[in-house]
Amino acid sequence: MRCRKCPKRAVLGMPRHNTAFCGPCLTEFVRTQVQRAIKSQAMFAPEDQILVAVSGGKDSLTLWEILLKLGYRADALYVDLGISGYSERSREKVERFTRDVAESCGAKLTIHTVKEDAGAGIKELANLVKRPTCSTCGTIKRYQFNRVAWENKYDVMATGHNLDDEAARLLGNVLQWQEEYLQKQSPTLPASVAGFSKKVKPLYRMTEREIAAYAIVNRIDYLVEECPMAKGAKMLVYKDALNRLEAESPGTKQRFYWGFLEKQKKAAASSSIAMAHLDQTTLQPCDTCSQPTTAGTCSFCRMMARAKNPTR
Ligand code: SF4
Ligand SMILES: [Zn+2]
Ligand SMILES: [Zn+2]
Repeated sequence: MRCRKCPKRAVLGMPRHNTAFCGPCLTEFVRTQVQRAIKSQAMFAPEDQILVAVSGGKDSLTLWEILLKLGYRADALYVDLGISGYSERSREKVERFTRDVAESCGAKLTIHTVKEDAGAGIKELANLVKRPTCSTCGTIKRYQFNRVAWENKYDVMATGHNLDDEAARLLGNVLQWQEEYLQKQSPTLPASVAGFSKKVKPLYRMTEREIAAYAIVNRIDYLVEECPMAKGAKMLVYKDALNRLEAESPGTKQRFYWGFLEKQKKAAASSSIAMAHLDQTTLQPCDTCSQPTTAGTCSFCRMMARAKNPTR
């Protein structure tokens, strides 16, 4: 198979675009797609300070690398969950990338360690507060990213969610008719109240396979293994179903998710109520930590109070 842009041998076929690229042409294609995502979804401007959520996996490290190569000012935050073995290995990948790539671009890494803050790793903490591990993890990560962004005045928070993630999430939301989640599923979520950062997903145009190929071509050393807590997650079932549809009909994921975004845009244009305004009427500062919340005390502060006093 030959590259469609130059005479070199292709490293990746892309049936959804009916094309194939060699390493350098793939790199150019992916960076152009990310730049297009940033512009078309008004994610951020060159002067903005970006905080990237990194986990040590291919998506988040690739996102950080691309933003730096495109000349954006992007630092990163890693949350060490204290999962025996996995957390040490993922942290090592993040720290190595920081040393080998990010620091030479003037970027820095912040690490938040759950054990140091809460006195227990994520599994023990979830047991203490009697909640599933992943929902405890979600609350902590959301809180810490928002806190670090707020304290350090980052303009925007970026995550490595890709087309596979977003299409699978959309499928889940549609199957359960989660209207509230459907309304908020977007590559760009505006800063809804003061102190609540704007959130963006610049990789939403790229599939997992394309990102993995980019990471290999550009020698990004990432952790291949998934978090052990992800086993049995519904999202993996949705991804598997979409992969089978994609194999039968290339471009299914793109048509599904991008089609949804088009419809959402049309619906927003015909409605006088913007999503940000909806949020502003319902969010207020937490009475313990001042971060935005719908309740008097935010879910993170309630969870930590419960962890300190589990009998309550
Ligand atoms: S799988 Fe669950 S515990 Fe692991 S990182 Fe994801 S949300 Fe957190
Ligand atoms: Zn080429
Ligand atoms: Zn709080």
